[in-house]
Amino acid sequence: MERGRRIVKQLEGLRMQPNLLGEALDGRPFDWGAARALLDGLPSGKGLNIAHEAVDRHASGPNGMGTALRWIGRDGTRRVLSWRDLRTETNRFANALRRLGLKEGGRVFLLAGRIPELYVATLGALKAKCVVCPLFSAFGPEPIATRLEIGEAEILITTATLYRRKVEALRPRLPLLRHVVLVDAAAVDGTLDWHALMTEADPVFEIPPTDPEDMALLHFTSGTTGKPKGVVHVHQSVVMHHVTGRTALDLHPGDIFWCSADPGWVTGTSYGMIAPLTNGVTNVVVEAEFDPQTWYDVLEQERISVWYTAPTAIRMMMKLGTEPLRGRDLSSLRFLASVGEPLNPEAVVWGVEAFGMPFHDNWWQTETGGIMIANLAAMDVKPGSMGKPLPGIEAAIVQRDGQGGIALVDAWMVPGELALKPGWPSMMRGYLHEEARYKKCFVGGWYLTGDLAMRDEDGYFWFVGRADDVIKSSGHLVGPFEVESTLMEHPAVAEAAVIGKPDPTAGEIVKAFVALKPGHEPSEALRRELLGHARKRLGAVVAPKEIDFRLNLPKTRSGKIMRRLLKARELGLPEGDLSTLESDER
Ligand code: ATP
Ligand code: MG
Repeated sequence: MERGRRIVKQLEGLRMQPNLLGEALDGRPFDWGAARALLDGLPSGKGLNIAHEAVDRHASGPNGMGTALRWIGRDGTRRVLSWRDLRTETNRFANALRRLGLKEGGRVFLLAGRIPELYVATLGALKAKCVVCPLFSAFGPEPIATRLEIGEAEILITTATLYRRKVEALRPRLPLLRHVVLVDAAAVDGTLDWHALMTEADPVFEIPPTDPEDMALLHFTSGTTGKPKGVVHVHQSVVMHHVTGRTALDLHPGDIFWCSADPGWVTGTSYGMIAPLTNGVTNVVVEAEFDPQTWYDVLEQERISVWYTAPTAIRMMMKLGTEPLRGRDLSSLRFLASVGEPLNPEAVVWGVEAFGMPFHDNWWQTETGGIMIANLAAMDVKPGSMGKPLPGIEAAIVQRDGQGGIALVDAWMVPGELALKPGWPSMMRGYLHEEARYKKCFVGGWYLTGDLAMRDEDGYFWFVGRADDVIKSSGHLVGPFEVESTLMEHPAVAEAAVIGKPDPTAGEIVKAFVALKPGHEPSEALRRELLGHARKRLGAVVAPKEIDFRLNLPKTRSGKIMRRLLKARELGLPEGDLSTLESDER
């Protein structure tokens, strides 16, 4: 916090261009009805359909021939689709679904890397009022089959390789799955050929009247804290995507936007597809796997103006320092944003060093369907803070009273659970088949997020940790984020994660796991130095008592550190649901 303030001073003078809804930030209530009116051209009597807002509305407007999607293939192949092209392709896919017998509400699953067909299929299925569920292509066969089962998939769009490797053997388990469409190969046994379907399909399709409450998307959570939940979203979410695209990501006509999240996760769909398109902004899609070199190449070569990325990516770039940026022309960049995990203040400062502008942290979850809290373009960035609630979003810090109720915390910088007043358009409408789990999220008229945070006197929110990850040491509540950020201040540290380890005297002690930057080796001396650094900065109670070095920290496939796994291993407990585990080098 102290440090945050100091850095704000350094950042003064770097204020970004104000955004359209900036003035609504003055604490005045924000009317979602008015926001909906922002979606001009809403066809009267036809409700609100995501694909209409993202595609057709622009296709028939003056920017219809503008670039909606710019795809860069792994081998350098490029494909450009205008809004009109996208309208034709999505119409064909909507018609193809109908021909295959998919009705409104039918479940369409997608399992593919970042290829144009994925975008066409998502938006085409939404036009047909089918429910779309994107799956991350790097999942193994079991997580894929489980999700297809839970989500009652009727059709799966995928590639030949993914089908053979991951789905074919498990198909007998999936009696509801009627069709599998291969986008890149002629039909083999039991599958259909995308190209044949699309060629035969009519390029004209009229979107049926869509109720704003019709189910549109099913997104599985990251599984960071346990078994992933299937989160249900409806068509009116698009209002939120559109408005937050402008306010939190500063999207304006003429922008070239890149969101590096995979569409297998909620960010990659809401902001990697829908928000830029509804805002009439060119959306860059990059198929390649990511590393700092690729990120920089894309930013430079595609003349990206707004980049939405994640702390894990930023920490990977920081690991290599600013040297790889030397000689590059990144003058097109105007706005950087980050989501998915807490963004260490160190990373915000690094953004200024490397790109001449800070990363704007923002907070949301699969459940909230859209950005809730953000360092907006029009306000000062407070490094280490998630920012302020967006216009129309009411956020509070609450504490449970132990009797099933909650009390609002009416003080600054006192940690409690982050709660939101339900009512914004993109709020989840349920956890699929888990009514009880869904109901448990609401207490006393508030939605409880499961994250702990604090609010400062300026109304900024500060992430403390997930409720599950919080540590109680000698009667003190220790938030993992603060300890991890302090460790990251040390030049040798690339990543850090802390857990609570049971201790007979303190209840729990803080134990840290640390991955080092290239050029640094684990040693007893370094361990002592890090312990000393943390003790000096945090005090003896909060500072870690133990530090283990790791090559890498276990992460979900969406890039989140899995503290629960570090803890289970430390305590010799069962490892739990690991369906979304990615890197795990020990
Ligand atoms: P699961 O709910 O299955 O455990 P998950 O919560 O990681 O997984 P997501 O919905 O993908 O699944 O992630 C949302 C969570 O990510 C938030 O609740 C929060 O813990 C974390 N998060 C997202 N953005 C931020 C941020 N800017 N600062 C801190 N934490 C963030
Ligand atoms: Mg969650």
